[in-house]
Amino acid sequence: VIQVQHLKKHFGDLQVLNDIDFEINKGEVVTIIGSSGSGKSTLLRCINLLEIPDGGNILYKGTDILSGKLPLTTYRSKVGMVFQSFNLFANKTVLENCMIGQIKVLKRSKEEAQKIAMQHLEEVGMQNFADASSTRLSGGQKQRVAIARALCMDPEVLLFDEPTSALDPEMVGDVLEVMQTLAKEGLTMAIVTHEMQFAKDVSDRVIFMDKGVIAEEGTPQQIFEKPQHQRTKQFLSRYF
Ligand code: ATP
Ligand code: MG
Repeated sequence: VIQVQHLKKHFGDLQVLNDIDFEINKGEVVTIIGSSGSGKSTLLRCINLLEIPDGGNILYKGTDILSGKLPLTTYRSKVGMVFQSFNLFANKTVLENCMIGQIKVLKRSKEEAQKIAMQHLEEVGMQNFADASSTRLSGGQKQRVAIARALCMDPEVLLFDEPTSALDPEMVGDVLEVMQTLAKEGLTMAIVTHEMQFAKDVSDRVIFMDKGVIAEEGTPQQIFEKPQHQRTKQFLSRYF
């Protein structure tokens, strides 16, 4: 669905992404791991066009997203993103948060948007909070609503940037469980995470990033059980 080719991005003198090549295939769960500052967030932000790459191509179903042929709002509804900090609209209810994009971008009627929102809120176990103000929720609840909101747009791909790292430990499990269910249902996902056990369980493919390059890529067995590169071994030794 997504092909990244020779992607480059720098901030000032710092080359944050250096010739990144990878793809996200339909139905696949790709996790991206690596040390702080290795460029994981920048990679996702480039794919979502929150950052403009300096070089290379990003293709969505074969169309170059940098060519301007695909309107940005259409593209972002197809390739959704879930952030560490949730980014819900604070002055809106849970239900409104899940309806607004459907009405504005997908031009769904209010009734239809509401029906779809309730379905996805149920999927993440938040249907009983539909009328609650989003500011009143716990972090884990907010993140589940953010996932429901993204699902309401019928995405082809969902990108997750450390969705559980701002959460209290007791909330992490609920969010990972929702993501695991989505993975089983065949949703295409790319997930930046420091939850190594989760990455091991849920991934079809794991990408290890180091200093702006993909240092190693493989199945969870290859990466977690037989890492080839010294840097991968070093990184994983902090977790296992
Ligand atoms: P973490 O695990 O801490 O989230 P990361 O792998 O997501 O790290 P990035 O956020 O992609 O890393 O950042 C890579 C490098 O780029 C870091 O050195 C960061 O300081 C720098 N960087 C990121 N965004 C910007 C920006 N907007 N302006 C300047 N430098 C930036
Ligand atoms: Mg990051």
